[in-house]
Amino acid sequence: MTHSKMRLIVASNNSNKLREFREILGERFDIVSMHEAGIDTDIEESGTTFEENALIKARAVSEKLGCIALADDSGLCMYALRGAPGIYSARFCGRHGDDKANNRLLLEKLSDETDRRGYFESAVAICFPDGRTLTASGRTFGVILPEEHGENGFGYDPLFFSTEIDKCFGIASAEEKNAVSHRGRALRALAEKMRAEGIL
Ligand code: IMP
Repeated sequence: MTHSKMRLIVASNNSNKLREFREILGERFDIVSMHEAGIDTDIEESGTTFEENALIKARAVSEKLGCIALADDSGLCMYALRGAPGIYSARFCGRHGDDKANNRLLLEKLSDETDRRGYFESAVAICFPDGRTLTASGRTFGVILPEEHGENGFGYDPLFFSTEIDKCFGIASAEEKNAVSHRGRALRALAEKMRAEGIL
């Protein structure tokens, strides 16, 4: 007997994140972007934690479309910067999504620091039309290099040297990154919770 894939609307129009969602979940789920589902407006991320923001995004889409919606909120946290840029990672430089400027500012802020350790964190949330929600999170650890390496990935990846795979995420293949990434870990933990709840 064949099972049709569960359709998941991802509460994001970030093409890099969508690609990773498809790489990690694509075998089991039909991943549909917010844009493909007919929503082009941005959802205001007014939460104070990754988890709150992920829930805000997933809930907004689930309520608007009456569908199952999945969201990720993620960012880079540096020990020397007391957790910054954290939930402000996408708009660290003041403009949303300017990766080059964000990376320049990060290097500037770390220029006098000896501790260049940090981690990426991802919180994922899934909301069902009946109001049920599940959340999970994941982290991946590394250090920020003095300059960019490679063209792979997105955001801070060309500066992030993963101490878990001994490779910069800017150089790592998609498979290498997804195996240890914060998003990969969060999504696998979420799938585990869905299985425990009998949803998968
Ligand atoms: P969000 O879309 O509000 O969750 O912001 C995510 C931001 O965190 C991105 O724009 C990147 O700056 C950063 N980020 C999150 N995940 C990654 C990743 O896997 N690699 C590099 N940067 C990431």
